[in-house]
Amino acid sequence: MSRFGAADLSETLEELLSGTAKVVAGLGAVATLISIGLLVFTCFRVGGDAGSASQVADAVRNVEIFQKVLVAGVIGLAVGSTFLFWGEELLGAGQLMIAAALFFAPLYLPSIVGDKTNQASESALAALQTGGTILGVLGMLVLLTDIAIRVNQRVKTGAKADHIKLGKGIKEEGQKKNVLMGKCWQLPYCRTFVRDKCPIYHARRTCWKELVGCMCEEQVIRNAMENKAIPKDELLAAKFIPQNHKLSTEQKKSRCYSCVIYNEHQRHKYKVGMWITVPGFFVSYAVLHGLLFAAVNGLLIRINGVVNHATLGAGGNYKPPDMFVEAMLAVVMLIALTYTMKLLEFAIFKIKV
Ligand code: SF4
Ligand code: SF4
Repeated sequence: MSRFGAADLSETLEELLSGTAKVVAGLGAVATLISIGLLVFTCFRVGGDAGSASQVADAVRNVEIFQKVLVAGVIGLAVGSTFLFWGEELLGAGQLMIAAALFFAPLYLPSIVGDKTNQASESALAALQTGGTILGVLGMLVLLTDIAIRVNQRVKTGAKADHIKLGKGIKEEGQKKNVLMGKCWQLPYCRTFVRDKCPIYHARRTCWKELVGCMCEEQVIRNAMENKAIPKDELLAAKFIPQNHKLSTEQKKSRCYSCVIYNEHQRHKYKVGMWITVPGFFVSYAVLHGLLFAAVNGLLIRINGVVNHATLGAGGNYKPPDMFVEAMLAVVMLIALTYTMKLLEFAIFKIKV
């Protein structure tokens, strides 16, 4: 098959998949909205003592059907939106917000529809919570997969190649050194033939601290080409480090931000940041478990208190079960970890701290 034919085929396949994802997401959204509407309506219509025994029994049967529609809807919505918006920062967060609204329905809906529940309204609330749980699990998977792929890419390649202007296309040295958080000459992009005549190497300095180096300063390369002798003594070699008075410090820093050497250094920072962040979260979870549990428990009781106050006591006093608080704490920790990792990525690769 010709290259053109293969490209055409993959484009057609992509269009087909994208079209299918739109249909799946659209149908999922419609099914989700309709089933939510019907479940909430059930709570209003036959909740408390508003319905007769036969109406309640009918409503319970209907709720079973609505729940199936809701489950199919949230799965379609999660799968379709994941395909369509993969890579978008807010994809996982958006899915989790909808999931939370469904999951917490038993917390706030009774205050709105009245606290007198019966079998039908309880089933309707449980169905909403089931939909929220399924969407929440899928949303968490999407968020964790997204972050795992990003971390893997960042740890392997650091900044994306298109952000690198200096040293683009330069290959790593065959017998490469790669010292974690090393100086520029301990990284794989320091070329041996330049290094031997480089004053920064002989002065045991680091180019991004001096703001001049082999990727940005012609003089450093010229020294190597002209085989210029550089003293091996650190203090004497430092005197040969070129000075560029034409550019401001900010301009020199901005050269570094788009240089392959500096971005390798950033990749090292990111690795170290990850090694601290991930175990740090698990250690904090273990050490501060009691405090964190009490905080989440208190927050849930407080939310209920606010809703209860706003509805003149219609919500009743809610005491969340321990298992529920534990699950909420785990979810909160995972979300906090995910966004801390995103923040770390942003700080190191975007604003270059
Ligand atoms: S400036 Fe370039 S050649 Fe000189 S030590 Fe640093 S990486 Fe090596
Ligand atoms: S741009 Fe910065 S990191 Fe790159 S060689 Fe020059 S001083 Fe070093």
